[in-house]
Amino acid sequence: MPEGNSPNDLEEKGRAIAPLSYPHHRSLWQQSLSCTCPRCGDSSLFNNGLFDLSVKGTCPVCGLDLSKSDSADGPAVFLIFILGFLLVPLALWVDAIWEPPLWVHAVVWGGLAIGITVGSLKPIKSCVLALQYRHRASEWIKDQQDGS
Ligand SMILES: [Zn+2]
Repeated sequence: MPEGNSPNDLEEKGRAIAPLSYPHHRSLWQQSLSCTCPRCGDSSLFNNGLFDLSVKGTCPVCGLDLSKSDSADGPAVFLIFILGFLLVPLALWVDAIWEPPLWVHAVVWGGLAIGITVGSLKPIKSCVLALQYRHRASEWIKDQQDGS
């Protein structure tokens, strides 16, 4: 991390973290893969558990109210499109070349779909929340102004 840009450095220098600042210097991809808070980038965005997709209520590091975030069905829809465009042509290609029995298709493509879903749903949800934080800032600002 570049010197002097972490949230603690900013607070020590007497500057408060602006409501919509990005004190960390992570790209959207890095932030999405690390599943961290969209403002400080230091705290995990999700509660513990492999299958628990619930977002923490408040960031324990910077205090950002994460309960106002709402990704709705966006991450699932993105994942459906990604899996559909990846797996369906691949399954058709494998069937055309090797003609495996149907149970092989069910095991291979079903397992791949479940594995990709479990592995990528949190990063995709983290990406959607980071994009909301960066580009639909009016909701975050309004909530912070109403609360103060
Ligand atoms: Zn934070």
